Amino acid sequence: MECLFCKIVAGEIPVEIVYEDDQVVAFEDINPQAPTHLLIIPRKHIATLNDIEEGDLALVGRLQFTAARLAQARGFAEEGYRVVMNCNDQGGQTVYHIHMHLMGGRRFTWPAG
Ligand code: 5GP
Ligand code: ZN
Repeated sequence: MECLFCKIVAGEIPVEIVYEDDQVVAFEDINPQAPTHLLIIPRKHIATLNDIEEGDLALVGRLQFTAARLAQARGFAEEGYRVVMNCNDQGGQTVYHIHMHLMGGRRFTWPAG
């Protein structure tokens, strides 16, 4: 298995898991860009957003649902937060297993940072 996040799903690389169920795993980003910076990933390997298929739609929705629930649990849902999914090189993707960044606890600017 070559994929870093598949290894994390398999428990081969230790991470600080904050939520998991039969479909998704959420854990602390190793290089946090905000007071809270979590990654929410499907257990299923999907390389990029471009590889999502019709049958994955509920799974992708669960990533967003989990992000919102975690934001609520951490107490910053109402003040606001940022979710990001990067796609391919120019989008800033570095790990080719789709993941949603959930960042909270500070103010974000738009379109950068
Ligand atoms: P991307 O740049 O692909 O959108 O995001 C990949 C994220 O994975 C980065 O924020 C990076 O810090 C995080 N990351 C990379 N390797 C590891 C690791 O081994 N453990 C954890 N917890 N996060 C990682
Ligand atoms: Zn993978």
